[in-house]
Amino acid sequence: MKILVLNSGSSSLKFKLYEDKYPIANGVIEKIGEHQGKTTLQSLKTQEKVSLDDPVPNHQRGVEMIESFFRQTGFLKNLNELDGCGHRVVHGGKNLTKPCVIDDKVLKEIRRVAVIAPLHNPAHIIGIRAMMEAAPKVKNVAVFDTAFHSSLPEHAFMYALPYDFYEDEGVRKYGFHGTSHSYVSKKAAEFLGIEYDKFNAITAHLGNGASLCAIENGKSIDTSMGFTPLEGLMMGTRCGDLDPAIMSHLVRILHYTTEELDVIMNKKSGFLGICGHNDLRDVENLIEQGDQKAKLAKDMYIYRLVKYIGSYFAILPRTDALIFTAGVGENADDIRKLVCAKLAHLGFELDENINKGLRGELKLISKQSSKVKILIVPTDEELEIASITESLIK
Ligand code: ADP
Repeated sequence: MKILVLNSGSSSLKFKLYEDKYPIANGVIEKIGEHQGKTTLQSLKTQEKVSLDDPVPNHQRGVEMIESFFRQTGFLKNLNELDGCGHRVVHGGKNLTKPCVIDDKVLKEIRRVAVIAPLHNPAHIIGIRAMMEAAPKVKNVAVFDTAFHSSLPEHAFMYALPYDFYEDEGVRKYGFHGTSHSYVSKKAAEFLGIEYDKFNAITAHLGNGASLCAIENGKSIDTSMGFTPLEGLMMGTRCGDLDPAIMSHLVRILHYTTEELDVIMNKKSGFLGICGHNDLRDVENLIEQGDQKAKLAKDMYIYRLVKYIGSYFAILPRTDALIFTAGVGENADDIRKLVCAKLAHLGFELDENINKGLRGELKLISKQSSKVKILIVPTDEELEIASITESLIK
């Protein structure tokens, strides 16, 4: 089966083409709508690669470019030959709680939810529509970042605000990175030989955006991101948890608008806000040069991770595994070491010899004596979307 996975942003289109769950092509079209585009398309079978800076006026044109690349590489004559197309959709709201084949009703709901995901859902709709127009015969499937967290119990997803905000405005914790938390926890259970519906784990998706998830019997019971992907851990450019009264204070004292506050909290905070760099590798370089703010930023990051993992350890009746994934989780051995060292008294014993220098490999990295198994599981959200799409259209 040939499945295309699309991730549409407001000015970008990322894709991966699978043949029987094996990736054969991928690419990204950026700067859509700008005077100069940035396109990279590559075949993973032949290493044939196309890099272009021609302007890409809209997503429709982007989809056409993907189609002509597939024709050029011989993968497909046209997009109608696809068996299905899976779309990453960030927010499903409270009604779209499972991946589904997209019809008018689903599109309408994704649009309705856009009010609480203004940066993502409108862009997804543009991408889905472009695909529907280019390949009317192909079934489209939506896979929601929020879906895995639809099992959160009420006491975990409610905020202690007036109840009407939940009923009237849908204000509640939704959680994100669900496709990743679900994928890596299933992989880990399989690797450890534990039935998934009896598996308890804490998954740490640590990329530029970062979130944790507490999983009991294969179901998400809590997660650190909330109503939006801002809550929780300190991230590359996002502040994570803070006292909400700080925002009203800044409005009163410095007269910021809500839009400005959104930009500060989402794009100018986290590692970037504390030490001027959002990429952990740059932060590590600064620390080596003796930069105190970079050291502080890393200490804050570790502290919050430990605090959150500890709280999930407390709410789970038993923790079988701690799973590290995404850019930082898969690559930064020092972060894994520092976090686990602080959790040692709870039974998290890292084998430092295995951990050291390990990157992007599915591996058990705890000592045999460790009460909680510690693993690295490389995430693959696109493969998960392709697999779900395949099973839904079959
Ligand atoms: P995104 O959230 O954008 O999908 P990724 O999961 O790709 O992010 O993670 C990107 C982040 O991973 C980078 O910003 C960087 O901080 C971190 N990272 C990637 N490689 C390494 C590495 N070798 N050592 C430390 N950190 C790394």
